[in-house]
Amino acid sequence: MSLAGKKGLVIGIANAQSIATGCARAFRGAGADLAVTYLNDKAKPHVEQVATELGADLFLPCDVQHADQLEALFEQVRERWGRLDFVLHSIAFAPREVLQGRLVDSSVEGFLTAMDISCHSLLRVARLAEPLMTEGGTLLTMSFHGSREVVSNYQLMGPVKAALESAVRYLADELGPAGIRVNAISPGPVATRASSGLSEFDELMQDATARSPGRRLATIEEIGFLAAALVMPGAGAVTGQTLYVD
Ligand code: NAD
Repeated sequence: MSLAGKKGLVIGIANAQSIATGCARAFRGAGADLAVTYLNDKAKPHVEQVATELGADLFLPCDVQHADQLEALFEQVRERWGRLDFVLHSIAFAPREVLQGRLVDSSVEGFLTAMDISCHSLLRVARLAEPLMTEGGTLLTMSFHGSREVVSNYQLMGPVKAALESAVRYLADELGPAGIRVNAISPGPVATRASSGLSEFDELMQDATARSPGRRLATIEEIGFLAAALVMPGAGAVTGQTLYVD
């Protein structure tokens, strides 16, 4: 149950509350070496605290909408490690007016921005990671069950996460022969920067608490535990899945 010597890239830490932080702590706790990214200069100091705590080997900017930044990131990974074992893609974004409106009213631009950052970016990350995963590897992304069922106020992100989960299955099929596994984790609601953009998120957390068998929400540590387990060689027969931690 060790990740000693494994090299992992973590995209999606905004601060100590991020789901990606819980995952990165679990990877590091199991012995992995990490590269950590931050979105922009505004986010940098918040992410830097976490990167320092994790003893990250690399700390680099990555806005997935900037192709040059994404390519430079993987180039730096190649220079530093020569290979890569896993990537955590734990990002999502939708313009507030689209996120908080009705799906039926969503603009093409707003829909495409959400789809680009929250879904297509996984394909770009996979394409850049593939040549570095010379000994096989694992790609992980974060979904939410609003992809399969109607969850009040999740709206636009429902179809976006449905596309993400489908992309996971097709990527798993395409990259499987190269020994690369691709899975989505579907956590229950967690109070984070991203989730604060959803209307009535407190009510969603209360509802999830009441419905959950344990009458409580999942923690980022518990999400991280599954993420670390999925990266381990023992999970070698698990791919193309959406696994719930809720
Ligand atoms: P968070 O705000 O901590 O993380 C979201 C991350 O997305 C941030 O680090 C942000 O910098 C990044 N991001 C946004 N636009 C980007 C871009 N253009 N390029 C690169 N990075 C960008 O929130 P979180 O809740 O930890 O979200 C992580 C993932 O978990 C998301 O995919 C989210 O949909 C998913 N998720 C969250 C919940 C929840 O309740 N919080 C539940 C299920 C799934």
